[in-house]
Amino acid sequence: MDKNMKAVYKKRIEKTIKNLKRRNINGYYVHDLEQLKEQMDDLIVDKSSVAVGGSMTLFETGIIDYLRSRDLEFHDRYEEGLDPAQMKALHRSVFSSDVFISGTNAITEDGEIYNVDGSGNRVAPMIYGPDKVVVIVGANKIVKNLEEARNRNKYIAAPANVQRLQMKTPCLETGACTECLSPQRICNIYTVIDRQFDPNRLHVIFLNNSYGY
Ligand code: SF4
Repeated sequence: MDKNMKAVYKKRIEKTIKNLKRRNINGYYVHDLEQLKEQMDDLIVDKSSVAVGGSMTLFETGIIDYLRSRDLEFHDRYEEGLDPAQMKALHRSVFSSDVFISGTNAITEDGEIYNVDGSGNRVAPMIYGPDKVVVIVGANKIVKNLEEARNRNKYIAAPANVQRLQMKTPCLETGACTECLSPQRICNIYTVIDRQFDPNRLHVIFLNNSYGY
């Protein structure tokens, strides 16, 4: 991203952080991946139990490797060789972990956190369970409003995930949503986090670059 685009996105991030605060959600601006790790060090104490949601952003930012290297009880959904029963047990254990870390599909400038999920194992612990939730967001995920968030899913996030997973849905061929009801449809659960009761629970870290879908 060139410096002029970064300047524009910086203003959008700052506006979003201000509006998250109104909703009892904490926002942080970090300049680079090194500062992201420092922010994570501040938010997650050693020995915590930590789980993650499925996210390309967490891979692209190096957060999965960072978590593996720390002194944590890491419930690693990406560990090789997990069978379906172990994965199911891991997804259920996430609710009692100290910290849940995730990406997001979109976040509005007004501070609403928007997601679309296949089975709900990523969005459910964002909503309830872990005492602390950390969401890592590239500037490319900031949208004007919920309508733009929905369109972002239909024309970018979901078709890209379908390509990654090679699901047999119409958008695999068209590259855009056809509002399918295919057996392999990945867009099943739609959530908007509007506000938190606990002002210490939800933390959103913004990177001024493009990450994930
Ligand atoms: S609803 Fe179906 S066609 Fe639309 S993005 Fe989701 S999987 Fe693709």
